[in-house]
Formats: sequence, structure tokens, C-alpha cells
Amino acid sequence: MERKAAGLGALAAVLAAFIVAGCITGPFGNQSGKTTIAATFYPLYDITEALAGDTADVFSIIPQGVEPHDYEPSSGDFVKISNASAFATMGLGFAQVEQKLLASANREIKVIEASKGVPLIDEAGNDVATSTQAIDPHIWLSPKNMEKMALNMRNGLVSLDQNNEDYYNSNAQSYISKLEMLDANYRSGLAGCNKDVILVNHQAFGYLAKEYGFRAISISGLEPDVEPSPGKIAELIGIARENNIRYILFEELADPKVANIIAREAGAATLELNPVEGTRVPSENYFTLMEKNLATLRIAMECG
Ligand SMILES: [Zn+2]
Repeated sequence: MERKAAGLGALAAVLAAFIVAGCITGPFGNQSGKTTIAATFYPLYDITEALAGDTADVFSIIPQGVEPHDYEPSSGDFVKISNASAFATMGLGFAQVEQKLLASANREIKVIEASKGVPLIDEAGNDVATSTQAIDPHIWLSPKNMEKMALNMRNGLVSLDQNNEDYYNSNAQSYISKLEMLDANYRSGLAGCNKDVILVNHQAFGYLAKEYGFRAISISGLEPDVEPSPGKIAELIGIARENNIRYILFEELADPKVANIIAREAGAATLELNPVEGTRVPSENYFTLMEKNLATLRIAMECG
């Protein structure tokens, strides 16, 4: 009992030290004098860091090696957000965790909503007009959507720091040029494939599939760790056999157990396809992961 009390005392001291450090540097700066910008998770962190360049310290609230669906903020996250001057948010399926964080943020925090103006689809790939829970939140997996997100980010950064407007415009332009190149690689790389269907762990690839004209069937729906019923697994094995699917696509940050069962029963192999929600490999970024995904899709769909 005594030891537990001492532990809590030490935790309080650490939190107090964080808060004091925040007060010394003020809400709109850190010890390096730069603006601090929080991003909810990996794809937002990538785009924010690329556009903010050396004007800001950007960090991801959800650690980069952690699967972001159903993430619960820690006490440390609330301390960090309270010291950020801007927050790059995704909204959609991640809105709940972002709202919880914003409740602890400085009242003057600038929210940059990356998904603004991106056309949305539901789990089945149908267009949707309004924000409801049925919306597929994985907008970043289409490079065309990322272009819109880059423009939203640029606008947000300019309104935060007008002195560096030219710098943000130039960074946004290079990021968008890279996205256009990625889009061209996908268009040519996925032209003339023998198959137009893939079987993936969770339904993260709806926007990508819609953009490049194929179908993605998922094991667990919009969330990666929802285990399907035995009946659903049997149905997926049937689909894999009927479509002569030779590769079942698993992901880095989710349990591959069901993908392995389906692969074994359907006589298929497994390959990794990354939903770019995070990665444990620090040298990767949005573009390297998306290029690897293209190479995987070309194998899975038997493209010329
Ligand atoms: Zn997801």
C-alpha cells in the first residue's frame, strides 16, 4: 500500500514537471522556439511534417507502431496536447479520440481538419454525402485524396503562421508532385492485371480500390481486430477458392491469425499490404509504404 502511494507520488511529480516545462515555454512554442503541432496518427504526421518542414516540431499522438483504431489516449497524451499550438485531425472514424484530446487542449489551439472536402464512401464503396458512423475513414490510401489533404494542411499552416506562406506553398507543391507521381505509378502499374479482386485483413483499401478499378474484400470490416464468425471465415474461404485468389493480404500491425487460416484452407500464400495507419519501421514514410503496396498488389492481382 505504502509502495503504491509512493509510486503515485512519483507519477504526479513527473506530470507536474511536464506541466511546468510547458508553462515555461508557453503554449505556442517549445524549448527550440518552434511551434509544436500534434497529429492524430501516422498519415497525418507524415503530411504535416513534410509541409511544416523546419518551422515546427510535429509529433504523432498515437505512437507510430500502434494500430490506431480504438486507441485510448494516455495521461501523457493529454499533457502533450495541452502544449501544442495546432492539431492536425482526421475526423471521420477517428473523431471520438480527437474530441477527447481536444477537451484537454489549450483553448487557442488551431485545429487543421485534413479530411475537409474529401468525397466520402461507405464500407461497400458507395458515395455518401454526410458524416455518419458508416463512413469508411481510410481516405489517405488514395493519393488523389492525399492531394486534397495536403491543400487543407497548407491552408491550416498558413493561417497559423502567415510569415512562412511561401515556404508552405512550396512544400505543399513538392508533396503534391510526389503524390501525382505515385498516382501515375498506380495507374500504369495496375493496368492490365489478370485479377480485379483482393482479399485483405480489414476494409482499409476502399478508396484505393475505387480509384484504380478493383475490388477489396475484407476479413474483418472497417476495423482490423474484429474477429469474424466461423461462418464468415468459411464464406471467405469459398470466395478465395471461387476467385482463384492466390494471396491473402495481411497487415503489419494487426493479428494475421485469420488471414493465415483462410490462406491455408484456400491453398493460398500470404503477403503484407500496409493500410498506412502506422509502422514499426522508422525509415518508412507514406510514399515508401505506398510503393511497396503497389508491388504487392501487382503480385496479388497478377499484373503484366
Ligand atoms: Zn483501418
